[in-house]
Order: sequence, then C-alpha cells, then structure tokens
Amino acid sequence: MKVGLICVFTGTMYSGKTSAAVKFALNTKKPVQGFRPEADTRDKDEDIVSRDGLRIPGKRVPHAGVILEKVASPTEVVVIDEGFMLPGLVTAARVLRKRGLTVVVASIGLRFDGTPFRNMAELLCYADFIRVCEDTRCACGNRASFNRALLPMESDIVPGDGERYAPQCALCFDAPLLGEET
Ligand SMILES: [Zn+2]
Repeated sequence: MKVGLICVFTGTMYSGKTSAAVKFALNTKKPVQGFRPEADTRDKDEDIVSRDGLRIPGKRVPHAGVILEKVASPTEVVVIDEGFMLPGLVTAARVLRKRGLTVVVASIGLRFDGTPFRNMAELLCYADFIRVCEDTRCACGNRASFNRALLPMESDIVPGDGERYAPQCALCFDAPLLGEET
C-alpha cells in the first residue's frame, strides 16, 4: 500500500507560502481538495486563492479533525492554508499521510512574539518535505525571518494584513517600533 507525504511551505507573512503550496499541488496533476480555517476572517472565500490568483477549490473548517471527514475520493492531494490556526493539524496530517494522501500545508511558523506555534513546530518534525519561502524582505532590505505585530495583539491569532503585521529581519525584530517607549 502506498504511503503519502507531508509537505510544508513556511516562511513569514507575504513570503509566497500559499502561492508555492498551490503551485506544488497543481503541478502534481492529481485531484486536489483545499481547506482553510474558519478563524481566518480576512475574506469570505471558501477556496484557497494565492496572492497571484491561483485557486484550489476549498472548504472552511473549524479544526483539522473535520478535514478527515471531508476528504473524499478521488482526492489524492490535500492543501491546508494557514495551518497554524487549525487545532488538530498534526494528527490530521499524519492520518491523511497514512491513507496515502499528499498533504500540503502553508503556514507561518512563528507567533508575533517570535516563538513557534506548537502545531507548526511539531508538523515540521513530521514533514517529509519542507520549503522556507522568502519572497519578502524586511523594510531595511535584509531577509525577513519574523512577523512583527504593528498593533496590540488581543490573542495569538488575530487575522490581518499589512495594516497589522510586517515581515522583519532578526535585527529589526529585536528593535523597538518607531515611536515605541524603550
Ligand atoms: Zn530589518
């Protein structure tokens, strides 16, 4: 019996993770299903749409356990966007891999305080393939490694885009925000 794969596309915000994951999935030419967290409230789309307009038909789920019920024949590739927002991600990915599916996860790995999301840290240990995407730079020009919150965070997961977060290099991430008290 064929075993599947866990493929993770990670990196900072705007690093091209979703685009790379979607391209990877489409390039397999196999039947694909996409899943997104309900917690991602930035838009109402069910599909996974990359910033460069590539689309995979998808479903919103409250947690990754639901994905196990929703994946149906003839699907061979499962794409999960914003994995860090999904409880049960690691177990679901491992179960799907055992079923022979290719699981492609796109997600940031680090919280906005610079520490890892637990589920992503674990997923990277179980992954068969990892790509750190880097289509973004810090404002200073260095490679970005962190996601800086520009506004106060009420919890670990607060959906938002450029108005709320900025990719930053290791040097700028440790520096106070402009105008912030030291
Ligand atoms: Zn910098």
